[in-house]
Amino acid sequence: MSTSHDTDVIVVGAGFAGVTAARELRRQGHRVLVLEARDRIGGRTWTDTRLGHDLEMGGTWVHWIQPHTWAELSRYGIGVTPSPTPVKGYWRSGGTVHSGTADELLGLVDRGMAGSTEESLAYFPQPYQPLLAGDRLAEVDGLTVRQKLEQLGLGPEEFDAVEGMWATNFSGRTEDGGYAQALRWCALAGGSWQLMFEACATYKVVGGTRGLIEAIAADAGVEIRTNTRVVSVAQDDTGVTVTLEDGATLTAAAVVATLPLNMLDSVSFDPPLSEGKRRAAHQGQASQGVKVWARLRGEYEPFVALAPGSAALTLCQVEHVADGETLVVAFGSVSERLDGADPAAVQEALRTWLPDAEVLEVASHDWVADELSGETWPMQRAGQLTGSLAELQRPEGRVFVAGSDYANGWAGFIDGAIESGMRAGREVHALLTTVDAFPAIDDTVLSPS
Ligand SMILES: Cc1cc2nc3c(=O)[nH]c(=O)nc-3n(C[C@H](O)[C@H](O)[C@H](O)COP(=O)(O)OP(=O)(O)OC[C@H]3O[C@@H](n4cnc5c(N)ncnc54)[C@H](O)[C@@H]3O)c2cc1C
Repeated sequence: MSTSHDTDVIVVGAGFAGVTAARELRRQGHRVLVLEARDRIGGRTWTDTRLGHDLEMGGTWVHWIQPHTWAELSRYGIGVTPSPTPVKGYWRSGGTVHSGTADELLGLVDRGMAGSTEESLAYFPQPYQPLLAGDRLAEVDGLTVRQKLEQLGLGPEEFDAVEGMWATNFSGRTEDGGYAQALRWCALAGGSWQLMFEACATYKVVGGTRGLIEAIAADAGVEIRTNTRVVSVAQDDTGVTVTLEDGATLTAAAVVATLPLNMLDSVSFDPPLSEGKRRAAHQGQASQGVKVWARLRGEYEPFVALAPGSAALTLCQVEHVADGETLVVAFGSVSERLDGADPAAVQEALRTWLPDAEVLEVASHDWVADELSGETWPMQRAGQLTGSLAELQRPEGRVFVAGSDYANGWAGFIDGAIESGMRAGREVHALLTTVDAFPAIDDTVLSPS
């Protein structure tokens, strides 16, 4: 490898995609430098000590049907632990709060969840090749989740509960969320919405996601420079030059940019990224929600609560009960509707389900306002799967874009970030060695045959 550059590969961002790409490249013998703007690694995963607990401010739940995440947990010998199983259910519809068992609530959403996911395997027979269905897929990709729900003939109570569930899943408005994205998620769970739900909100990483990303970073054994923000990337035939916020420059043979889609245009590229990439970044993806932790006075029986997407909070569940208090985690689909750092505002939102709830303390991070993420978990808008994904994944010369936003499988999850980081590592290695190292494997988006 050329020694005329400062390093062989610069990775921008030390989230799961970045540290995975760094590890893969280092294992192939390349010199790698990771530049991270925050003062910590982890990106949209962040195990922080708040409210007397190690709380996940971002990504939390993992599952064995997420193959890339599970492989990493196995590799480093890290286990999972379940969230409490809900016993009670609360749901709001038409301004009224209903309550029953958690099973009754799951029964209420069953018809709508099954109806909105029943085509998942027809359109995604092999979900890691998300465009395999070709032109047929383009027809449904134009639909939003809400449009699909409106076709199902659900009663008002069913509709509100299912719509609230999808608003939570999308961390955004169901008017924006792509129906094809909903199908893609469910296909990854073998077409079972119940398994999909379990994968999304049941098993947490023992020791927190921090332990997993620290294990990958330690294994990578490369320098990760925190508090180092990249402002521009220029490339020519000989390499890339990365300019930092303080004006310093670094050179390498290639760069992996793990910027969230909503932040892709926060770094200037010379020559500019393709029009297709810029258009997708300008449009942005659909998530704009909020995640809130709250300590409540009193010991509540574990519950799950749902409300329509128009509510400040759309889902709440119990995470810990002890010493006369209950720790809950809740989600809203539009962060602007709720200041998650304001205990009074959170209490008001929670009282729509639990009129006597008394909030003692809250913790939240506004990922949408965060200028290094601009979104929560990446969720495609209608049309983005067929319109943008292949172009977003396409390397441009020495510039490789990676991250959960650009994954084939569990896009929006930690798993998607790891998958994408592995792909970027493989592609950069092929470029640097000019050897087609893995000719038989191609998990980039397949064009319809
Ligand atoms: C509230 C919330 C809840 C979630 N829940 C789950 C869950 O339960 N399960 C699950 O699997 N996933 C969940 N996710 C999604 C998951 O956390 C993300 O998909 C995943 O962590 C994204 O990883 P990434 O590496 O692609 O991007 P990021 O983690 O965003 O990493 C990108 C990195 O680049 C850095 N960066 C950005 N710009 C620059 C720059 N100019 N210079 C240098 N560095 C820069 C950022 O600081 C960041 O560290 C959740 C996310 C959020 C926000």
